[in-house]
Amino acid sequence: MPFTLPELPYAYDALEPYIDAKTMEIHYTKHHAAYIAKLNAALEGHSALQQQTIDALLTDLNYIPEAIRTTVRNNGGGHFNHTFFWQLMCKNGETEPRGHIGAAIKQSFGTFAQFQEQFNATAQAVFGSGWAWLVADKNGILKIMSTPNQDTPISQGLKPIMGLDVWEHAYYLMYQNRRPDYINAWWHVLNWPQIENNYNDVME
Ligand code: MN
Repeated sequence: MPFTLPELPYAYDALEPYIDAKTMEIHYTKHHAAYIAKLNAALEGHSALQQQTIDALLTDLNYIPEAIRTTVRNNGGGHFNHTFFWQLMCKNGETEPRGHIGAAIKQSFGTFAQFQEQFNATAQAVFGSGWAWLVADKNGILKIMSTPNQDTPISQGLKPIMGLDVWEHAYYLMYQNRRPDYINAWWHVLNWPQIENNYNDVME
């Protein structure tokens, strides 16, 4: 089995009261694990693909045989996105970014509050299941975007810096239909030093 569930970098209850322990447990042990199991099943018999990193598989989906392309897109995307997402969060997150990413957000979006407003609107506008992202393009320009389902920015040549899962499975137990409350709560659990690392990696 080429892909395995990465260790969650904190306890299930670490993000309470903003994200509850039961949601974290189910999200990680059921949803994320299922994406990995389905990805591994799809790659059975494709030994060359099994040697690839998840980033390489998703960077050019045209390289994936058509028979398994949609499965790899959905479940490989699910694996990549969730691995990325867990790292963005932490217990006792700071409420505002500092460092290079703090400066870059202000330069690109005006103020941090304006950035949040635009990000929240994008997350709220996702119809059905998907993600909101802060990405950098090839020229290092920051932009806010969304992807449907488990599509990932790296398949579009974009580098994710931060992203928010707005599938109902990410919030329904605690917030039911109140996606805006979940979105607002999420800003309390952000691991800004990790987001800074993501930004610096992109800008290298
Ligand atoms: Mn999810």
